[in-house]
Amino acid sequence: MNENIEFGGGNENEDDVPIIEKGNHREIASGMVINVMEQLVGFGEEEVRLILENIGGFQLTENCNGGCYFCALTKKGDPRGVTAHYDYDSLAEFFSNYGEVFRHGTLLSSQSDVLDYASCSKGGKRDITDVLRLLDYRPFLATSIPPGSEKRFVVLAKYIMDENIADLKNPDLPQGWKYQGTRVRVSSGIQNKDRVQAAIEDTLKEFEAAGYPEIAVGNFRKYCLGMVDRTQNLKPIGLLIEKADKVNRANSFVANDGVIMTPESIYARVAVAPTIYEPTGEVKIPLKSGNVADFTPKYKYISRYDSHADIGTMKDEPMLDLVKTVSDSYLELPDKKENAVFVIGRVAMSFYRFMQAISFLDYACNPTDAAAVMENGHKQFLVLKDKLGMAMEDCSRFVEETDDQIECQKFEHYRFLGSAYLRELELIFKSYKGGAPLAKVSRVAHMMTYVKKSDLDGLDEFIGKLLG
Ligand code: SF4
Repeated sequence: MNENIEFGGGNENEDDVPIIEKGNHREIASGMVINVMEQLVGFGEEEVRLILENIGGFQLTENCNGGCYFCALTKKGDPRGVTAHYDYDSLAEFFSNYGEVFRHGTLLSSQSDVLDYASCSKGGKRDITDVLRLLDYRPFLATSIPPGSEKRFVVLAKYIMDENIADLKNPDLPQGWKYQGTRVRVSSGIQNKDRVQAAIEDTLKEFEAAGYPEIAVGNFRKYCLGMVDRTQNLKPIGLLIEKADKVNRANSFVANDGVIMTPESIYARVAVAPTIYEPTGEVKIPLKSGNVADFTPKYKYISRYDSHADIGTMKDEPMLDLVKTVSDSYLELPDKKENAVFVIGRVAMSFYRFMQAISFLDYACNPTDAAAVMENGHKQFLVLKDKLGMAMEDCSRFVEETDDQIECQKFEHYRFLGSAYLRELELIFKSYKGGAPLAKVSRVAHMMTYVKKSDLDGLDEFIGKLLG
């Protein structure tokens, strides 16, 4: 799907998008065309409601043309390049029928890029801006401006700018930092920095040619466009998982527990610690009629559980729990071995996030809130510790029961991961309960987020010195 053409608003000229008739499927350059309404056939009405109320990501395309070598949501061997996309006319019907149930705020991407989207509809060619017109809310969008999508970026930027200008005239809408229009974040790395720079320059030229007022251009840059530099601080997950330490940085890239809909699948997706066995830090469970109530997680925005900026507001539940389903029970995978690994991966990630969140607790909170965070965190820790302990015992038993060396290594890996995080959190709470000043407890937590496998042996001595 590398067509380099003007999109938006139903372009009638279809000459530059090759259409191939293939059996019952119509293919264009961006892969198979999938009807989203047909994808839901087979699910009961209640199941569709549960899926859409708890949706965390809606991919307009399958896979991505971005080709980022650091992609956190891609595993080695996953296909690169768009292989399917949703038919625009079916999306129009979908959002007309389910727009109110569809969780507002849902990201229009996951392992995909919104600028890859292109579809031929009855009214002509369609792109991301046409999809945005179907929504009842203004989403957050993320893109790496994949090859061939540069002009679509300019079209998208102009769409957002026009929305912004219209909103400026509306006295009922919040402005400035509270402005809630469509926002786009552009990721730039070694492989795409020239393309990104060119696309941004073209956008600004277009804005100038269109005569947009300076204040609107300033607002666009400040409130609607985010730039992320991916040349530094790459996380060793996804395609870079081989560089990961066995213990360090058990944080997933995944921002929510919920459902992901893509042209090729509908699945429950929950966050866990990334490991060589789960490189993308997520467990995926395909949803089909009959299993939706058991496996659909209650939508939960989990990014805030590692943020010291949010921790004060979350003092009642400062630590991320295991996953709750829409049936209000804890998510349990049917395969006991997979379930034990899932529980350890989840708890390790929860402990890592808590350490990160309390790293600056002394700055982030007043002393009363900080004490509540630590006390409630400790209560949650004791509950999670029990669950972790049981899962680790299960892993020990599986090791004894199996002759499969590869399976054994996996259980050993998770047992090690669980025991490392258990020890780190125990040391933190021991120092807190032992009366260490909060600033020192925070520093210990901060240091713990950098602990590597090779540091574990000297950990007690190191913490002792730190507490001084
Ligand atoms: S990081 Fe995003 S844009 Fe890059 S390959 Fe992955 S999904 Fe595509």
